[in-house]
Amino acid sequence: MAEFDLVVRGGTVVTAAETFRADVGIKDGRIAALGEKLAGARTMDAGGLLVMPGGVDTHCHIEQPGADGTVHEESFATASASAFAGGTTSAVCFAPQFRGHPIRDTLADYRARAAHAMMDYSFHQIITDPTDEVIGKEVPEIIASGIRSLKVFLTYDPLHLDDRQYLRVLAAARRHGALVTVHAENYDAINYRTEALLAAGHAAPKYHAISRPPVVEREATHRAIALAELMDQPIQIFHVSCPEAAEEIARAQARGVKVWGETCTQYFVLGAADMDRPGFEGAKFMCSPSPRDAAARAGLWDVVRQGTLDVVSSDHCGFSYGGARGKGAAGRNAPFRDIPNGIPGLAARLPILFSEGVAKGRIDLPHFVRLTAANPARLMGLAPRKGSLMPGADADIVLWDPAKRMTITNALMQHAIDYTPYEGMEITGWPVATIARGRVVMQEGKVQAEPGSGRFLARGPYDFIRPRGVLPDGFDMSAALPAG
Ligand SMILES: [Zn+2]
Repeated sequence: MAEFDLVVRGGTVVTAAETFRADVGIKDGRIAALGEKLAGARTMDAGGLLVMPGGVDTHCHIEQPGADGTVHEESFATASASAFAGGTTSAVCFAPQFRGHPIRDTLADYRARAAHAMMDYSFHQIITDPTDEVIGKEVPEIIASGIRSLKVFLTYDPLHLDDRQYLRVLAAARRHGALVTVHAENYDAINYRTEALLAAGHAAPKYHAISRPPVVEREATHRAIALAELMDQPIQIFHVSCPEAAEEIARAQARGVKVWGETCTQYFVLGAADMDRPGFEGAKFMCSPSPRDAAARAGLWDVVRQGTLDVVSSDHCGFSYGGARGKGAAGRNAPFRDIPNGIPGLAARLPILFSEGVAKGRIDLPHFVRLTAANPARLMGLAPRKGSLMPGADADIVLWDPAKRMTITNALMQHAIDYTPYEGMEITGWPVATIARGRVVMQEGKVQAEPGSGRFLARGPYDFIRPRGVLPDGFDMSAALPAG
């Protein structure tokens, strides 16, 4: 009788640390062994291929309801298909809170939506309204239920928190053991610039970038870190788009502050100039922070190589170009302020990072695995179950052809969105098969999985995000919470 259910034979295994030749033996949905001449009931030939941990995308907006009653067009099932097509096997998505409402009004609904996923998933809990009830009662319950990360926005209506509210979220996270993830841009500065631009008649999509230049991101990044340092609460700065913001992270890391930085695929390859395409076309590239210029893209590789930014996510966001709920929801002539922010990118993340990073010699293979799987899993408390090929880990694997040349088309993304901002991009390196908990869910581009076969990843307490115990003047602000 075969010892393993499935053996991936003859490939080059890539881990977060090294590359080596080995067979991978899978049993009961987990990695059971790495070795030579393993025998399985089923064998997949990986000769000439890389065998890497399936991607872990810790920043995905999927089927997320908005306070205005709309829901992102991508469903958990279609997003899972897109993830598998691109070699990603698990995602962390965003459970909403609507201002003026407790979290329980939306969390059960969001759990029910996610139950149709085919990939494994967890949630960040968005906090938009940190009332006494939310901070004192709901947040501890939600953290105990396995949602170990809270998301705050320092900009955007109707989501943004002021500094006092942000401090309250930091306090609750410190007290109950969660990571705080931050959208860091200056709310008032963006609004001020937006109003000034619109008053001057500058309403086209390209003015989105001008409304929020790098200094707006740098200021909020600095402030987010300073307040987290004041509270001794670990944070991750989301979607760092420019070296200016990364500099603030590097300076804090150098003095020992537990702050991590994420960037996203689009900031390596898209630019503010893309939003200057004719007509409404620029809306296809609109996300926040804004894509920048060539110098920022080059500088971003530097801070990735230096380790300042150690996670690359997609910030996948399902707004279509032509649909009634998508980019044109406010009309094709809507001013940039009224165009939904966010772009789809779940399937494109690994191919673009591989092609631009590994194939062009900017990063090596283990670094690719760290950025796309190992680091996000570790930071979110999903390791070593996810993002690893260690025996005992879930058998989430992508088989990768490093030489395969492809041109990105929307059809290849296999999502429910009618465009990709990466259309026409030439790619070297492509996923040829994806395995999720031992199931072969994608082969040669064909996705096969059952809606509902994904599992919620409940996250317990984990040491990686433990506060340092370094408090200004030794006073623990989180111990006694001032009323909201
Ligand atoms: Zn996002």
